[in-house]
Amino acid sequence: MPGILTFDDLKSCVIDGSIDTVLVCFVDMQGRLMGKRFHGVNFVETSFEETHCCNYLLATDLEMATPDGFASTSWESGYGDYVMKPDLSTIRPVPWLNGTAMVLCDVLDNRTHQPVPHSPRAILKKQIARLEALGFEAKMATELEFFLFDKSLDDIRKSGFRDMQPISGYNEDYHIFQTTKEEDVMRPIRNHLFAAGLPIENSKGEAEAGQAELNIRYAPALDCADHHSIAKHAIKEIAWQNGRAATFLPKWHKDRVGSSSHVHQSLWKNGEAAFFDQSATHGMSEVMSYYMAGLIKYSPDYTYFLAPYVNSYKRFSKGTFAPTKTVWSVDNRTAGFRLCGEKTKGVRVECRIGGSDLNPYLAQAVMIAAGIQGIEEKMELAPATTGDVYQDAKAADIPQSLRAATETLRGSKFLREALGDDVVDHYTRAAEWEQEEFDRAVTDWEIARGFERA
Ligand code: ADP
Repeated sequence: MPGILTFDDLKSCVIDGSIDTVLVCFVDMQGRLMGKRFHGVNFVETSFEETHCCNYLLATDLEMATPDGFASTSWESGYGDYVMKPDLSTIRPVPWLNGTAMVLCDVLDNRTHQPVPHSPRAILKKQIARLEALGFEAKMATELEFFLFDKSLDDIRKSGFRDMQPISGYNEDYHIFQTTKEEDVMRPIRNHLFAAGLPIENSKGEAEAGQAELNIRYAPALDCADHHSIAKHAIKEIAWQNGRAATFLPKWHKDRVGSSSHVHQSLWKNGEAAFFDQSATHGMSEVMSYYMAGLIKYSPDYTYFLAPYVNSYKRFSKGTFAPTKTVWSVDNRTAGFRLCGEKTKGVRVECRIGGSDLNPYLAQAVMIAAGIQGIEEKMELAPATTGDVYQDAKAADIPQSLRAATETLRGSKFLREALGDDVVDHYTRAAEWEQEEFDRAVTDWEIARGFERA
């Protein structure tokens, strides 16, 4: 399979002129690629060791504001630098840009060169290490759902996000003809990402006009998160190159279904599927039942990491395939957690709570942490629910708002132990800030409702 370049491969490409630009990137709190474009010669001669960025980049919001209240950085501390340390095992070509390669970085403290605790990649690596100490490896797949629009992001922004037209006129779930009409965007997305070393499985139409999904083959958790971040970036960039817009906003219209990012999860031990037990009900091993019990028990604690914005919570509505309940079910899309691959080696749990706006490093990290807790405490898994779980009054609810999820995050003893107080405090502040910004806004809805009638 094409894709990953060794550092020596990259050097050769720079010498023969096939690559002249290296994107040196890290992933921020929002899951975006941030960084610099290096000349290839500079990168292979010196900057492969490290480069630097302002430490406000892990303490901003989507609009690059500089909120107060973060212990790690501030105007008072002068907003110093972080080290961006290229992980040379992630060098890959970027085939949709001319002469370009990319490398992902770990974010390190500028003085100690230790990982910055609240950096998403460091948070995930820490939970992977905890799992490894128990003898397990997590393999994950994060589905990417998004909407395509007929105009470019720039045109849509300039028109004030009004009168937006999805690329298609009707629900295109699994439609081949409608998705053929989108192949000018989707085919390059699949092929360029494949050539960049991402194991692309397929794309398909989703259950709303203009909605698409990209599936990437499951992989070890860190690779999965890297794949997700690169793919999300590429989808936006390739759509933009084609004069179209791709959005990962979970709910772009009140009457349209939202976009998710379901997370498929399984544990492996010595290369064997640790979730599989042929003789057990559903083929579900004890380890899997403990892991799922932990996932379910702590889902209110970590919902913020699956739904980090005010808009994320607009997606959770009955009858839209977006779950509202923290229960599990066998191959049933109305529950928060779905057992897939029943009685096969591919038996796994799919968490359906996350929106298309989740940061895959953070989402996977907190779910691994919850699973570890379940395994360590041998937690008992409640029986599966059946039928239309939306109507199940006894089933516990997912926190219904960013405000509620912020409070469960702030008060989570479990997350404070698993991630550290500094990390929980950092993300609690990010969540509070998001709410504060929303509370300051005067929305179109309020004006239309009250301007005349109030
Ligand atoms: P579909 O339900 O659309 O047929 P699949 O069943 O093939 O899709 O899988 C959905 C996602 O689950 C895919 O991205 C796939 O790579 C992933 N997946 C398959 N097996 C596992 C596993 N054992 N652990 C984690 N993810 C898996």
